[in-house]
Amino acid sequence: MRRPKTAFITGITGQDGSFLAEQLLNSGWQVFGLVRRSASGNLWRLEHLIGRVVLLDGDLLDLGSLVQAVTTAQPDHVYNLAAQSFVATSWKQPLLTGEVTALGAARLLEAVRIARPDARVYQAGSSEMFGTSEADQQREDTPFHPRSPYGVAKAYAHHLAVNYRESHGMHVVAGILFNHESERRGPEFVTRKISMAAARIKLGRQKVLKLGDVTVRRDWGFAGDYTRAMHAMLCRDQPEDYVIATGESWSVSDFVDRAFSAVGLDHRLYVEHDPSLLRPAEIPVLRGDASKAREELGWRPKVCFDALVERMVRADLKREAP
Ligand code: NAP
Repeated sequence: MRRPKTAFITGITGQDGSFLAEQLLNSGWQVFGLVRRSASGNLWRLEHLIGRVVLLDGDLLDLGSLVQAVTTAQPDHVYNLAAQSFVATSWKQPLLTGEVTALGAARLLEAVRIARPDARVYQAGSSEMFGTSEADQQREDTPFHPRSPYGVAKAYAHHLAVNYRESHGMHVVAGILFNHESERRGPEFVTRKISMAAARIKLGRQKVLKLGDVTVRRDWGFAGDYTRAMHAMLCRDQPEDYVIATGESWSVSDFVDRAFSAVGLDHRLYVEHDPSLLRPAEIPVLRGDASKAREELGWRPKVCFDALVERMVRADLKREAP
């Protein structure tokens, strides 16, 4: 019997990992995922997939564990989604961010080179690598000027992914994904903080929502649409880099407005400015140009901004309801 196509996902316990695992399983793939040790549990996004995915112990900080995991999984596709992914934390823990998000990617590429060099590898790059960009819309060839230790770490990982493709001839694809959200987003991220607050205030369980700079504009899509794009990138025989974005940019204030409207509340009565939440260096606006992905991968986002906010608020209302 032929072995099913096999994927190995680092960061499987995260937002994107859970969507990607689900999509791959539904397409008949076998899925292995790397899980780091946690004293308090990190499997809440995977509960519905337990028994269908094979979880392997390991950590991006530990090369031996990665070599062992890749040797066990013998994957056709490797998705490196693991990272210290929260921008705000990257100023407080810049060295850890570099160790995990930058050098962790290097360790994973090494593990694949040693244990399964013909696997196709996806590296999860970010629009944060562009930072302050002169371009009105950022594309694959827009120069990077990252504005946070997270952006710098991702830029290192991106360049190294391209370097492994060019110097070792490995099939490595570097995605450059703009912000993508969902009801599975971590509660520390601003979008989820807003959707949770709208739900909790509606239910009388919270009084105010404190935010930093609400004028910041981002290109926000739905995570499930973006994980489809990751898989499409690896299915293409030519490894290249792709920007994935909606092409629209909305402010944090727009997000707040839509979230509170979804529960019939006037946000102006509940939102407070908190200067302690301002970042040491901000990126005022990001907006991507995904024409290449549209043309070469046939990729298009299915969930629009309003529908995304609505679905996050609905999910939080359900979670928070007594
Ligand atoms: P996420 O929800 O924060 O998930 C991060 C994952 O990395 C979690 O599974 C986490 O495990 C794991 N991880 C952290 N440190 C690790 C370590 N030392 N060893 C092994 N695993 C470790 O992130 P996401 O939103 O799914 O994003 C997926 C990837 O895309 C990340 O690399 C992120 O930086 C990148 N990205 C995200 C966006 C976005 O808007 N979501 C945009 C561009 C790029 P625990 O569960 O144990 O913490």
